[in-house]
Amino acid sequence: SLSDKILGSVKKLRGQATISESNIEEAIKEIRMSLLEADVNFKVVKNFIDRVKAKAIGAEVIKNVNPGQMFTKIVHDELVQTLGGDKVDVNVRENPSVIMMVGLQGAGKTTSTAKLGLYLRQKLGKKVGFVPADIYRPAAIEQLQILAKQNGFSCFSSTTEMKPEDILTQALAWAKKEMIDVLLLDTAGRLQIDDELMKELEDLKQVITPTEILLVADAMLGQQAVSVAETFHQRLGLTGLVLTKVDGDARGGAALSIREMTGIPIKFMGVGEKVSALEVFHPDRLAGRILDMGDVLSLVEKAQEVMDHQEVEKSAKRMMNNEFTLTDFLSQIQQLKKMGGLESMLKFLPGMGEISKQMKNMTPPDSEMKKIEAIINSMTIQEREDHRVLNGSRRQRIADGSGTRVQDVNKLIKQFEEAKKMMSGMMKMGLGKAMRGGKS
Ligand code: GDP
Ligand code: MG
Repeated sequence: SLSDKILGSVKKLRGQATISESNIEEAIKEIRMSLLEADVNFKVVKNFIDRVKAKAIGAEVIKNVNPGQMFTKIVHDELVQTLGGDKVDVNVRENPSVIMMVGLQGAGKTTSTAKLGLYLRQKLGKKVGFVPADIYRPAAIEQLQILAKQNGFSCFSSTTEMKPEDILTQALAWAKKEMIDVLLLDTAGRLQIDDELMKELEDLKQVITPTEILLVADAMLGQQAVSVAETFHQRLGLTGLVLTKVDGDARGGAALSIREMTGIPIKFMGVGEKVSALEVFHPDRLAGRILDMGDVLSLVEKAQEVMDHQEVEKSAKRMMNNEFTLTDFLSQIQQLKKMGGLESMLKFLPGMGEISKQMKNMTPPDSEMKKIEAIINSMTIQEREDHRVLNGSRRQRIADGSGTRVQDVNKLIKQFEEAKKMMSGMMKMGLGKAMRGGKS
């Protein structure tokens, strides 16, 4: 596998604690070759390798792992970032939501429509209705109707005599009557992109603005999929991608190229012909699959976790001693993101079971975390170490600097003060004593 090759080709470091250019020369060659073999666009390969080099050269090798493992982890993390970082959820907030499935013929639109229906019903509890709008391909309407019947979905009764826009208009009225939450619109494809098809899709978009326009793209197309995605994106403004047939030989080359070249988030992956063969797209899973690495990753992650735990323990102790500052708060927010919540952090303190449960609700959502991070990053070191200096004009400056509002800054400081108060209260309860090893 690629990760074996990387591991084998990173030169051993002698007494060095950092990675140097000559250590990874061979490994870089292996990566370049594998990516090109996986039909990743050459520009994407070049940019990717430049970024990996920039991150790796000079990087410190953490305790308990060897440089090869460290480097593999860096490659993995950069793959994850290139594939989009975090997973991106499908948007079904409006009622009814219309999700438009577009793409070339044979890409897997109709199959993916059924798969997505199943996902929305099982995972999100939505009432889903199918709308067949491929009036050209023989038996295309019937194909979706059969899938609906087999899986217990309602399906709008389109006919080949209707125009796609009329189908959608009537289906919207039907959805209201049937109390359907999400309409999945299965559109026609072509063997190649042509203007007529694009016009038809644009017209559909005029009937109602879809909450999602998902391009269904065949992973086996490799680089070709990029230009398909670019054209569809230009004409329609895609909101996401469903990458199909990832169960075959395709190892994600298309995913890398499309994501890097167009920026369109990949939302789902089709991994088989069955309706259940749909996966929410997790960049880290595909990155793992591309590298074909299991052990290395978990090993390095464990070593990193130990480091994280030490960080957390330090700041928890400072918390107990009432020395807790906004700098600690920021480092905690960053740890929280990695470790999944305040309560998991508090597990490292003795006697925190009950309190850690109470804290569960206090862990801010991701968007909030990003805001908090931005605000604290806009503070000077002095301000972080002693939040009491934060007067009105400083707060305004911080709000401007972080692209937030003064209210947000105020809210954060209040949250921080409350956390601090709570911590010092806990110390008085005697937990501080326990923390300091039973002596006071
Ligand atoms: P459409 O023309 O875009 O509507 O494509 P279809 O949904 O009719 O699919 C075309 C072919 O691809 C069918 O034989 C599907 O079973 C197959 N297919 C679709 N998605 C996948 C997938 O994720 N994996 C595999 N192996 N086959 C798929
Ligand atoms: Mg179809």
